[in-house]
Amino acid sequence: MPETAPNSTRPIALDLQDIHKSYGSLAVLKGVSLTAYDGDVISILGSSGSGKSTLLRCINLLEKPTQGNIIIGSEILKLKPNKSGELQAVSNQQLESLRARVGFVFQNFNLWPHKTILQNIIEGPTQVLNIKKDQAISDAEKLLDKVGLLDKKDAYPDNLSGGQRQRVAIARALAMQPRVLLFDEPTSALDPELVNEVLAVMRELAEEGRTMLIVTHEMRFAREVSNKVVFLHQGVIEEMGTPEQVFDNPTSERVKDFMASHR
Ligand code: ADP
Ligand code: MG
Repeated sequence: MPETAPNSTRPIALDLQDIHKSYGSLAVLKGVSLTAYDGDVISILGSSGSGKSTLLRCINLLEKPTQGNIIIGSEILKLKPNKSGELQAVSNQQLESLRARVGFVFQNFNLWPHKTILQNIIEGPTQVLNIKKDQAISDAEKLLDKVGLLDKKDAYPDNLSGGQRQRVAIARALAMQPRVLLFDEPTSALDPELVNEVLAVMRELAEEGRTMLIVTHEMRFAREVSNKVVFLHQGVIEEMGTPEQVFDNPTSERVKDFMASHR
């Protein structure tokens, strides 16, 4: 676990307040509240279908929460139904401004197949952050060097292994200088021998003090890198605490069973 200062001395990077999400009559998130302080590395665990992906997708508004507040740095988005029960509209500007503060790393990389690795990374900074191309390229090269892939900058995603593609996806997320990085099962589409190269990059980011929310089934990794663990069950936080609390001394029987079956 990285050395982290007590919560109270660090600013809040991300605050989720009472997030709800329904698809039609199916309530998937039923009031999730979670605070990430700068430098927190929060692992989100839970069985398949518990709402982990939906929660991450709500944070950068790939899905729009039905209700709740999302606060990222100084950006506040309130999604409260008005008196007639309709949601306030989210403007494109709000959407863009919020998304620019959140980096998202997907299970399936989501790189643009017809762009080179370098083009994949500079697209966001030049188009969204209006960074000059020369600057974006030099920043991208530093990031590619950091993830060990500078020699692949002119290659296309198809020519890379899954582990390499995921490291590019991480570099691409970092290029947007996000306040928070979200990872949704970043290694579960990878062949087992490629998992560690991605976890190693993530571990380095954690040690640098990046604020990260990680959905993962890599239990040992989660225990080692996170300072906070959240267990989600049917759209509700069933247990939350330090890795020691949640892995070794969970109070919930459900979490005990989950841990016993994931050793
Ligand atoms: P997890 O990532 O924990 O496996 P998800 O967030 O993907 O869980 O899904 C939680 C629940 O929401 C599941 O019951 C799933 O079927 C449902 N769900 C997810 N996305 C949609 C969608 N776009 N439309 C309808 N139901 C969805
Ligand atoms: Mg999922």
